[in-house]
Amino acid sequence: MMKFGGTSVARPKNWEIIARLARKRLADGERVLIVHSALSGISNLLEALPGLALAGEGEAAAAAIRQRHLDFAQEAGLDGAAILAPWFTRLDALTAGMALVGEASARVRAETMALGELMASALGLALLKKLGVAAEGLDARDVLTGTNTHDETRSWLDNAVSEERDDTLIARLAPHDVILTQGFIASRAGGGTVLLGRGGSDTSAAYFAARAGAARVEIWTDVPGLFSADPRLTDGARMLTALSYEEAQEIATMGGKVLHPRSVGPARRAGIPMLVKDTFRPDLPGTRITGEPGDDAPRLKAVSVKTGVRLVVMEGSGMWRQAGFLADIFAAFKHCGISVDQVSTSETNVTVSLDPDPGLDAARLDMLRAALAPLCRVRIEEGKAAVSMVGYGIRRILHQLAPAFEAFQQKPVHLVSQAANDLNFTVVVDEADGAALAKSLHESLIGQMPEDRVFGPSWAEISAPAGKAAGAARPAPWWETRREDLLAQAPDAGGRYVYDLTTVEARARAVAGLQSVDAAWFAMKANPHADVLRTVESSGIGFECVSMGEVARVRETLPDLPAARILFTPNFAPRSEYEAALALGTHLTIDGLHPLREWPDLFAGKDIILRVNPDRPRGHHEHVRTAGPKAKFGIPLEQLGHAAELAKAAGANVKGLHAHAGSGITEAGHWREIGRILGEAASSIGGVSIINVGGGLGVPDSPDAPILDLAEVDRELAGVKRALDGVELWMEPGRYLVAEAGVLLARVTQVKMSFGTRFIGISTGMNSLIRPALYGARHEIVNLTRLGEAPAGLASIVGPICESADLLGADRLMPETREGDVILIAEAGAYGAVMSSRYNLRDPADEAVL
Ligand code: ADP
Ligand code: ASP
Ligand code: MG
Repeated sequence: MMKFGGTSVARPKNWEIIARLARKRLADGERVLIVHSALSGISNLLEALPGLALAGEGEAAAAAIRQRHLDFAQEAGLDGAAILAPWFTRLDALTAGMALVGEASARVRAETMALGELMASALGLALLKKLGVAAEGLDARDVLTGTNTHDETRSWLDNAVSEERDDTLIARLAPHDVILTQGFIASRAGGGTVLLGRGGSDTSAAYFAARAGAARVEIWTDVPGLFSADPRLTDGARMLTALSYEEAQEIATMGGKVLHPRSVGPARRAGIPMLVKDTFRPDLPGTRITGEPGDDAPRLKAVSVKTGVRLVVMEGSGMWRQAGFLADIFAAFKHCGISVDQVSTSETNVTVSLDPDPGLDAARLDMLRAALAPLCRVRIEEGKAAVSMVGYGIRRILHQLAPAFEAFQQKPVHLVSQAANDLNFTVVVDEADGAALAKSLHESLIGQMPEDRVFGPSWAEISAPAGKAAGAARPAPWWETRREDLLAQAPDAGGRYVYDLTTVEARARAVAGLQSVDAAWFAMKANPHADVLRTVESSGIGFECVSMGEVARVRETLPDLPAARILFTPNFAPRSEYEAALALGTHLTIDGLHPLREWPDLFAGKDIILRVNPDRPRGHHEHVRTAGPKAKFGIPLEQLGHAAELAKAAGANVKGLHAHAGSGITEAGHWREIGRILGEAASSIGGVSIINVGGGLGVPDSPDAPILDLAEVDRELAGVKRALDGVELWMEPGRYLVAEAGVLLARVTQVKMSFGTRFIGISTGMNSLIRPALYGARHEIVNLTRLGEAPAGLASIVGPICESADLLGADRLMPETREGDVILIAEAGAYGAVMSSRYNLRDPADEAVL
C-alpha cells in the first residue's frame, strides 16, 4: 500500500517518481495499491467553493480549479479536456446548484470536495499508463463504506469504515500488479459520498491496507518521516527513525499533521507496519512504525502544537462530591455531538479542551451553552493552543521539562493534562504563545539528543548541503577552509589527528579574557599534546592536572613554568601523589575525607582546596556527569563541615572550594548556580578566598546545536563575584579550548549494504576515538574528499575494530563515498588521541599540527 499526498502528486514529473517506485516494488515481487490525494491546494479551493458559490463567485472559483487540472494535463502531454470532461460537468453542476438553491448541504459539500481526488485520479491513471505502468483504476467508494453515516448534517465521517480483511476484495485485486485509487473519500451507507476528514487520505490507505491484507503501508509525503516537531516550527526537529504505533498515534493526534490521527488504528489492529517516506528523497530511510518501539526508555520523543483549540470552562459550587456531576456535563456534550479532548477537574471547576472541528459552528456551541446552563456557569474561550509532549513514561521525566517552562512564568497556562496512558503531557496556552513554548521545549529537551536508534539527523542537516546548515549561526569551521592542507596530511593507513593551533589560541584567549574570572586552568587531560600546552600557556592560562604523569608532562614541556600555575586535582590517588605535589608546591584539591582523616600530617601548614559534590549532575551523558549521588567525585555538601574540621585539626588552611558538575553544558546560568552553591558552602565554613566553578563549557556537536555564549557566562559570573565580595573566581575548561581545534582523518576502507543500512568503513575506529562508544558522543563527520557534494543517503560510519560499538556516527547524510576517500571526524581535539588504545593491536591515530 503506497499513499501519495497532495504535493507528491501535484506535478506530472512527480508521477515519474511514483512510477519508478512502483516498478521497484514489482521488481521485488510485490504488487502495489496506490492511494493518492488531490493535487496540493485543490481541497482548500473546493472547501471554499460553497461559500463563494453562495456569494455569487462560484463560477470564477470553479474555473480556477478546472485550469489547475488542465495545466497539469498540458504539462504531462495529456488531453485534459477529454480525460476530465465528466468531472468538470459535475463540478459546474454542483457550483450552479449551490448558487441556485442558496445553500450547500453536507451531502453537496462532500460531493464537491470528493472531486479533488477524483480529478487527480483520472489524470494520474492516464499518466501512469503513459509512463508505461499498466495501472488499473478503482473507485475508493466501491470498497470503503462508512458504518455510521446516517447523520445527514455532516459531510465528515466520524466513525470508521469496516477494516476487516476482505477476501472478495483481495480476489478482485489479485489480477492486477498496480491499482490506483483515491484517498479521503468513502461511500455513505445509503448512497452518496462521505469524507474521512481533512488529511484523511492517510486513513484511506490504512483501511485499504487492512482490508487487502497488505504487507506494508507506505505514506509518501514531503518530509522524510515523522519528526520530533513540525520541521516548519524548528529546523532543529529530529527525524524519528523508529516509533511504536502508540507513539505515532499520540504524535498524530496531538497535531503532527504528517499522519492523519485515524490512520494509525487500522494499521495497528491489523499489525501492518507503517513507513513514512519522502517522495522527493526516497533514499532516506524514513520513519518505521510498528508494534515494537524504537526504544522504551522514558524520554521525550516529540513536541507538537495544535492551534484553534477551544476551552470550555465550567464552574459552580454544586460539583464538589456531587455524584454524577461529570456524567451530567458529559451527557450535555454527547447530546450536542461535541467530542472532548483534554480534561482537568478541581473541586469547583471542570475545564475541557475541544479540538478544532469545522463542524463545530456557533449554533452548536450555543446549544452546548444551553445544555450546560442548568448545571454550572459556562465560559467558552477561543484562540488557544495545545502544546503536547509525547514519549513513553512521560511522568518520570516531568522534572526535565521545568527549565523550558521558565520563560512561561509570566504567561497563563490554562490547562494541564497527563494522558492516562503515560504517553503525553499537554498544556493549553494562548495561541500566540504556543509555537514559542513548543520551540523552547524542543530545544531544551530534544534538540541536543545524540543520534541513536530513535533520533536521526535534524531537518537542518537533511535539507542543507553536507557540512553546512542553512542559516546556522556557526561560521565555517577551520577544517573547511584548510581542506587542501588536511587532504595532504591524510594518512594512507590508520588515522591521524590534526590540530589547528590558531583555534586553540583563539579559545584560550577568549577564556583568559573573561572579566569575572581571576584564574583559568586548562584541564589538560583533554589534550596533553606539547604544542597545545605551549599555546595554552602563552595566553596566561594555568594547568589543571589529575595525575603526577600530567604534572610531569607540563613540567617537561614548559620547564620554566612556576608550580603556582599548576593545580593538582586528583581523585582516589595514592598518598604518594599528594606528597609529591605538595613537595613541588602546586595548588592542591582534595576531594574526599580520607586524605584528611588518614594522612593529616601531610597537610600541616598547607593551603588546600576542597572539592564538593554540588548534587547537580549535568552533561550530555551519564559518564560525563561528575556530580550528584552517583558520582565518585567530591565531598557531599553535608560532609563539608566535617571536612573543614578535619582540615583544621590537621593544621591545614581551606583556602578554596571547587565543584565540577559535568561536561558539555551550554546554559550560561549553570556556573552562576555552582557559584551560588559554593558561595553558600564557603560562608558556612568561613575563611575561603577562592571559588573554583569548574569547567564543562559546551562545544556544539552539530551545525545546529546551541552555542555557548561566553559573554553571557561572564555576565552570570560577574553577578556571583559581586555577591561574594573579595573572593577570587577560578574556572577550569578542558574541551572548550581544544575540541574544535582537532580533527581525526582516516581513509575509507570498504562500503557495505546490510539490511537496509549503508556502512562506510574507515581505517581507524574506537581505538583512536572512543567518545561515541563510551559516551554516545556525537561528532560531525564529512567526506573531506567530496566536501559539499549532494548527500546520497544515510550511512553509518564504522571502524575496523571487532566490536559492535565501533560506530563513529549512525545514520549520517553522506555523499556517494568510495574506497580511499578521506573522512574527517570533527571536534576531535579533546579526549581523542589521549584516550586511544591499541585494542585489537591496531595502532591508534598519530598526531600532527598544522
Ligand atoms: P501530504 O499532503 O503528503 O499528506 P501533509 O501536508 O498532510 O502532507 O503532511 C506533511 C506535513 O506535515 C509536513 O510538510 C510538515 O510540515 C507537517 N508536520 C507537522 N508535524 C510534523 C512532524 N511531527 N513530523 C513531520 N512533519 C510534520
Ligand atoms: N485532499 C484531502 C485534504 O487536503 C485529503 C488528504 O490530502 O489527505 O484534506
Ligand atoms: Mg496529509
